[in-house]
Amino acid sequence: MFTCDKNRVEETIKAFSQFGATEGGGVTRFALSKECIAARDYFVKRMKAAGCVIETDDFANVYATLPGSQPGLPRIVTGSHCDSVKNGGNYDGILGVIGAMEVIEAIVDQNIPHRHPITAMIWTNEEGAVYIPALMGSGVVCGKFDKNTVLASVGANGQTFAEALDTSGYKGEEKNRLTSGSYKANFELHIEQGPILEAKSKDIGVVTCVLGMVNYRIKLFGQSNHAGATPMKFRQDALYAAAQAIVYLHEQLDRLDPALVYTTGEITCRPCIHSVIPNYVDFSFDARHENPKVTAQVLEIIQDMPKKFAKCRVEVQENFSRETVYFDKNLVATVQKCADTFGYSNMQINSGPGHDAQYTAGVLPTTMIFIPSKGGHSHREEEFTSLDQCWQGINVLLGAILETDKK
Ligand SMILES: [Zn+2]
Repeated sequence: MFTCDKNRVEETIKAFSQFGATEGGGVTRFALSKECIAARDYFVKRMKAAGCVIETDDFANVYATLPGSQPGLPRIVTGSHCDSVKNGGNYDGILGVIGAMEVIEAIVDQNIPHRHPITAMIWTNEEGAVYIPALMGSGVVCGKFDKNTVLASVGANGQTFAEALDTSGYKGEEKNRLTSGSYKANFELHIEQGPILEAKSKDIGVVTCVLGMVNYRIKLFGQSNHAGATPMKFRQDALYAAAQAIVYLHEQLDRLDPALVYTTGEITCRPCIHSVIPNYVDFSFDARHENPKVTAQVLEIIQDMPKKFAKCRVEVQENFSRETVYFDKNLVATVQKCADTFGYSNMQINSGPGHDAQYTAGVLPTTMIFIPSKGGHSHREEEFTSLDQCWQGINVLLGAILETDKK
């Protein structure tokens, strides 16, 4: 089995941690920001030096392709994203890019024979931290989003995504997009972003699917009045009602399958003044599970929830939902076999978070490889995966790509 160069992996992790470095040891590297462009430039420089041909498509997704020995074969692709959330970590997304670079450089260094072209890539705007939606580059390329709607997306800076693309220097041609015919398989290496692998002392997560999810907005309508002058029994306090509604949902959903996860992470309160009873609150409600029967039970509970809490009217709005995306069985088996051959402890795992791979899975055979996240932390500066764990993940990635190349 071929392995990658651990020292070089360490250097590459360090190099990328400089692009958008924060005081707390993480990164803020918004999609197509100057920090993100610097990271892309670094990727391109290294991949060019390794002998890759660089292409970009109309959404600035970057493809660095190392030719194979047998002309005319489709490409095997691997990559992830280099953008981050505000005060994010040094592993989410970028580890998959580092792994892709290392696969290319290890193949070149060690003269490893391969028939198919191998492409390392960077997907544009996975996080959606400035321009909505998330998973933008893969979503458009894989036909999930309308191109013009996405181009018109306006960031907090007032700029449209179309303008950001134009000034990025990375906007290429639509004909360069990843397509089913010209690509054979896609592997995405990623940190788990959760605590399961660490808790079970496993080196490698063999990812089988991305969980289905439902996303709702629950709205409560009350009445604003003076916080001092209004006796409790005369109130219609929308925030108190929202608290009751959240507790109600948790109590109902707690009875469903224990693998179900659900979250309220965002809340709007109006007028949001300490001396005024809130007249309006809305909150997000996100629930995820592999089995569509369980997500259907969630929908039922949300739809059947009381029409009033604490005398405030309830309105329920569905934002979006997605079905569970299963990865390609053969590629999943290949990853499993590689992890076993290296002697790395491993387990099958699903992904709660969304990833670019969930969209490519609809276009070409795709799978993912997870490695542990210390303490399960992600989307924060403390995100950490040890060098050994990164190295092992990249070894499995390299092995799985070379195995797929033989077929
Ligand atoms: Zn990510």
